[in-house]
Amino acid sequence: MTKEEEVPLPDWVGAQEFYDNYEPKEILGRGVSSVVRRCVDKRTSWEYAVKIIDITPSDKTTPQEIKEIREATVKELDILKKVCGQENIIQLKDSYESHVFYFLVFDLMKRGELFDYLTEKVTLSEKETRKIMRALLEVVQFLHSQNIVHRDLKPENILLDDDMNIKLTDFGFSVQLQPGQTLKEVCGTPVYLAPEIIECSMDSGHAGYGPAVDLWSSGVIMYTLLAGSPPFWHRKQLLMLRMILAGKYNFASPEWEDRSDTVKDLISRMLVVNPKQRYTATEALNHPFFSQYVVDEVRQFTPYRRFKVICMTVLATMRIYCNYRRAKPLTKEVIKSDPYALKPIRKLIDACAFKIYGHWVKKGQTQNRAALFENTPKAILLSLLAEADETDEPAKTM
Ligand code: ADP
Ligand code: MG
Repeated sequence: MTKEEEVPLPDWVGAQEFYDNYEPKEILGRGVSSVVRRCVDKRTSWEYAVKIIDITPSDKTTPQEIKEIREATVKELDILKKVCGQENIIQLKDSYESHVFYFLVFDLMKRGELFDYLTEKVTLSEKETRKIMRALLEVVQFLHSQNIVHRDLKPENILLDDDMNIKLTDFGFSVQLQPGQTLKEVCGTPVYLAPEIIECSMDSGHAGYGPAVDLWSSGVIMYTLLAGSPPFWHRKQLLMLRMILAGKYNFASPEWEDRSDTVKDLISRMLVVNPKQRYTATEALNHPFFSQYVVDEVRQFTPYRRFKVICMTVLATMRIYCNYRRAKPLTKEVIKSDPYALKPIRKLIDACAFKIYGHWVKKGQTQNRAALFENTPKAILLSLLAEADETDEPAKTM
């Protein structure tokens, strides 16, 4: 008899315990090997979310893959316990495990993912972006202080609570580094991948990467929140990876016209190809973008500042008046000739496109949000129809 046969693993105990305590409800989200459902605590009737990780042997998964999923889940649980109590991190309430299932019970985030919120809003204001990014960078700063790298920061893994505060979730790729340790594994989601991760996949002698990859992904998220589409995107994945490696992006789309230089400056300090020159979370949080509009500062006006504000207000009013006089009347012909050149019409077109095609905006590897900004009906349809043909498999790992 082998050792394993002597001590049989409890196949069902953990699962039974979970079903004794909770009633699973509808699906909230899916991953490669997990399903997240709403569930209700039978004793208190309080609602939670349960991530059910299925490691049942099947034709589709090899024993090696099952072993990897099990190890990854143990690591995820370990990190979730370490980060417990942090304000903007999802709280693990309970966990159960059996030989073939893991049940991770979390606080329920009824407002869902930042990804879907962005699809609904198309783009966010600088003010809203500031609130989200400050919370995200504070979480990243905390994780990095514990030598934890998240490795899968993206709007799908950022949930919103009832008060629209963010909660970072999905620590499935997270790892706690030992002193001096670097990482070489290629994981994450293509649109958010840092260049050094791609370099690792191409060069076996690469020195490896570290926490700076989270700052790159944070930069990609910040850009996406403000522009509505990610900085690096191409229908052909290879070309997209090349753009990332070269750090080739711009602020040329019309969405950037009204954005401040301060916000562009911060993004450009996060999307730096060389990880050593990239901003850290602390540096990003100290950037002027986060010290703007501090209420106390506005209240404490000196007489000189008050005078300056009055002058600026008069100048701004005059400029608005002059622009108003110069503005062409909005006739049918103007709208017909180039509707996209007119900001309110452009916003209306984008909002309509997202209303009509929003459900086709895919997550994960084949993320196609950018296609909705290509602004020609043909480009939108070609891209979305081509991708709608593909299977709807949730993609995550590279
Ligand atoms: P995976 O590792 O499979 O990506 P996640 O932990 O990211 O799993 O969960 C998948 C999806 O399930 C999330 O993107 C989200 O839509 C939904 N989800 C996860 N946790 C919660 C929660 N606590 N409340 C509400 N929805 C959640
Ligand atoms: Mg996820």
